[in-house]
Amino acid sequence: MAVCTDKVVGDILAGWRYDISGLAPGMREDYEAHFQDCARCRGKRKLHRIIDFALILIASASGAIFLLALLAIRHFNPARAILLEVIAACGAAFSAMVWIIVAVSTPVPVVVAGVALQQARRIHEKLPEEVKSRIPEKISEKLADETKG
Ligand SMILES: [Zn+2]
Repeated sequence: MAVCTDKVVGDILAGWRYDISGLAPGMREDYEAHFQDCARCRGKRKLHRIIDFALILIASASGAIFLLALLAIRHFNPARAILLEVIAACGAAFSAMVWIIVAVSTPVPVVVAGVALQQARRIHEKLPEEVKSRIPEKISEKLADETKG
């Protein structure tokens, strides 16, 4: 793998798990510039985001499976259903806990919100003027602002 072009900045970014999504726009510039210059940190950032998304996907999937199991047990009501129900409920609760921990401790929500805003902006741009004029001014302003910045 390539060597980091600026070890000091690279170490700071590593400490943040290459997440600058929570920083104010003014503070981000230097780090954004470093990501442009440094293939190593860019690669690591991508890897970390893949890990974050994988974790949340796994937590979601396992939570869904445990919930399905719980529903299936309730529906078919086999012998010793209580024990199975408890296991499924614990599994679902544990998955939910992992999901929350991942969502709180990683930039996944910020990244998702960013993508959502981008999509909203794209749709907004394509809207005919008469529809746009009906959208409350505050929302239009927000979408326009982000495009400039
Ligand atoms: Zn670097």
